[in-house]
Amino acid sequence: MNPKLLPLLAFISVTFFTQAADQKSQRPNIVFIMADDHAAHAISAYGSKVNKTPNIDRIGKEGMRFSNCFVVNSICTPSRAAILTGKYSHINGVPVFNRFDGSQWTVAKDLQKAGYHTGMIGKWHLQSDPTGFDYWNILPGQGKYHDPSFIEMGKTNKFPGGYATDLIADFAINFMEKRPKDQPFFLMCHHKAPHRGWEPDAKHARQFENAEIPEPATFNDDYKNRAAAATEATMRIDRDLTPNDVKFTPPPGLSPAELKHWKYERYMRDYLACIASVDDNVGRVLDYLEKNDLSKNTIVIYTSDQGFFLGDHNWFDKRFMYEESLRMPFLIRYPEKIKAGKVNDAMILNVDFAPTFLEYAGLTAPKEVQGRSIAPLLRGEKPKDWRTSMYYRYYHYPADHRVQPHYGVRNERYKLIFYNRINEWELFDLQKDPHELKSVYADPKYASVQKKMLAELNRLRADLNDKDQFADIQK
Ligand code: CA
Repeated sequence: MNPKLLPLLAFISVTFFTQAADQKSQRPNIVFIMADDHAAHAISAYGSKVNKTPNIDRIGKEGMRFSNCFVVNSICTPSRAAILTGKYSHINGVPVFNRFDGSQWTVAKDLQKAGYHTGMIGKWHLQSDPTGFDYWNILPGQGKYHDPSFIEMGKTNKFPGGYATDLIADFAINFMEKRPKDQPFFLMCHHKAPHRGWEPDAKHARQFENAEIPEPATFNDDYKNRAAAATEATMRIDRDLTPNDVKFTPPPGLSPAELKHWKYERYMRDYLACIASVDDNVGRVLDYLEKNDLSKNTIVIYTSDQGFFLGDHNWFDKRFMYEESLRMPFLIRYPEKIKAGKVNDAMILNVDFAPTFLEYAGLTAPKEVQGRSIAPLLRGEKPKDWRTSMYYRYYHYPADHRVQPHYGVRNERYKLIFYNRINEWELFDLQKDPHELKSVYADPKYASVQKKMLAELNRLRADLNDKDQFADIQK
């Protein structure tokens, strides 16, 4: 070899290795902030008529907001398992409030193996201890809003006088502060709020005290023209909110309609006050990233484990495949790779989150993972074969609200639901009936739609390998 070339070769190899090291060190951090039961229609970026959420909105304004993000089983524990595994309940073994088998594959484990510093803070609610995390500090079960305890790596600590939402943000910031600086980090920051109990902190408790919160369009739903499941469900604003939920004694002499309205206002004022605290604390995390020069290379997500009924259909809670419960908020910011201010209407699912994190970390999801990375959508592409329909399945019955088990398919216009225990069907035309008040199942005008939707439901069930593993589950 020409000795004159040696310095050049040395230069090339140094450059090569430096670039490789740079690429590795430039893998983005991931901050995944998830609330519990925060409906998209209580976020101003989603057009909320009832509140403002400036800090959550900021993530969408500086990144992308998804208008059709859906949960595959609309209940707390199963959604968490689906997010960690990228798999549906019948595959990850968590159809209801059962124990998560922490020996199975999770996205956190792969990120940890690939050199990410991984942390899980806040509501975990999967019974087994977190696995795949270098640091965890979680609420026991549902946890408490006020004076909560947290389990930090197996040790219980009490926080008298503390408020869960503030503490979870404190711990998240502390995790970032103490992280090894030579590794990217993956942080799951899971708020307890605004789950039922709806207990605001002193700072926000009176924020909506005098607010007149408008009733939703379906507040006086009579459940006619649908399957019996809607009538059976015990989550009605006027009948099923308890004195603990509404917390105050109603004024005397109210008519039934006035009392129902009063209960709705009481529920919503506390629910929205809990969200105001979440929003403030999202702001604190964003500020921390900003001050520490981490904003550019950190993916920040805000979502909720499912949607929620805010008086829609006269309900609180979730579970049904109806829109308010099915839809999750999903806002994502990553200034290096995602253009600001975009809204994306592609259909994405909570099982897509795991493969998305992996793609950004330069990893590939195992083929058993059922979700699909949304990174192409975030780059502004729309793959030709992107899904145009999704499969949903709910199992938990009769606790806690007598919502009949069901499964179904939703595409861009129609939704077909089968209540498997009572053998009843619903078909909705979301374009003509966006509030899902009138099932057109067995309507001859919809015969061909019904046939196509049934075929699609069967195709998805086969594709996702749902063989009724938990068809008879009762809990
Ligand atoms: Ca939840």
